[in-house]
Amino acid sequence: DVNELGAKHNIYNQNMKLRFWQSAEMMRSFSSALANREFIVYYQPKVTLSSGDVVGVEALVRWQKKDGKIIPPNDFIPQFEQTGAIIKLDFYVYEEVLKQIRNWVELGLDIVPVSINLSRCHAENKNLYDEIMGLTKKYNIAPKYIEFEITESAFTHNAQYLIEVLTKFREYGFNISMDDFGAGYSFLNALYEIPVNILKLDKGFLKPSEVSAKQREIIKQVVVLAKNIDLNIVCEGVETKEQAEFLLGIGCDMAQGYFYAKPMPLEDLKHYLNNQKVK
Ligand code: C2E
Ligand code: CA
Ligand code: CA
Ligand code: CA
Repeated sequence: DVNELGAKHNIYNQNMKLRFWQSAEMMRSFSSALANREFIVYYQPKVTLSSGDVVGVEALVRWQKKDGKIIPPNDFIPQFEQTGAIIKLDFYVYEEVLKQIRNWVELGLDIVPVSINLSRCHAENKNLYDEIMGLTKKYNIAPKYIEFEITESAFTHNAQYLIEVLTKFREYGFNISMDDFGAGYSFLNALYEIPVNILKLDKGFLKPSEVSAKQREIIKQVVVLAKNIDLNIVCEGVETKEQAEFLLGIGCDMAQGYFYAKPMPLEDLKHYLNNQKVK
């Protein structure tokens, strides 16, 4: 029926327009938020399981609106990934982190290595290497203080390109960690093809209700395997003492989670670190 088709077509057009408007609107508010410095970096400590010493922090972005309301990343990162804005945001977060490390250096403080999340969108970003190197040199920060976290899902497109860039990062001395490992589809070839030196076990793996005994056994054996090929293992989302003990038992090196500390603004991190040993 022609009329029905016409109506469907119209709805389709309206949806397209709405989507376009939403993304254009999103991009405008992104640009002004960036200019107004509304994106702030929270830091979550990472500890060794054996002693509880702080060995690093992960930078996690938040959007603090003018009214003070804080928007969590899951509420805007998916949209920013659709429009590509995430690429700019990741570099912004990286620069904020570099400034902070430079500040610790100038003050003569102990330096906590910082992990930065790289969106899967960087697989299509031809400037990834140049931008990261340019910023790192601008602030003159040693690569051992930096860890880039990237998920396996980043390697579904342009894997070869991404592997090349990450290989150069590793050669330079940056740490690379495979984020959310064990979530979704995991490829064993990821362990040898992708130049990572750290595996970050997904928090979902700690939830027995969501993960079968079989899956847990697989992850346990992957941890053994990863240790044998000299990968460091971090588990995120540790909320209880029991989980920490289980992880220590299967040979996991480090942990991150509410059991130790929540992500916090810089001011709180300073106090937290003052009361902890930084190793
Ligand atoms: P992620 O990289 O997997 O980060 C870990 C998330 O788990 C964080 O959520 C953290 O607050 C949360 N978490 C930490 N400990 C626990 C715990 O014990 N229990 C539970 N249930 N959750 C815990 P957050 O900060 O809301 O970030 C969500 C996601 O947003 C991140 O997941 C990451 O994928 C993305 N993200 C955050 N900042 C950035 C960024 O600067 N760039 C990019 N590309 N992505 C980012
Ligand atoms: Ca992460
Ligand atoms: Ca993760
Ligand atoms: Ca995640």
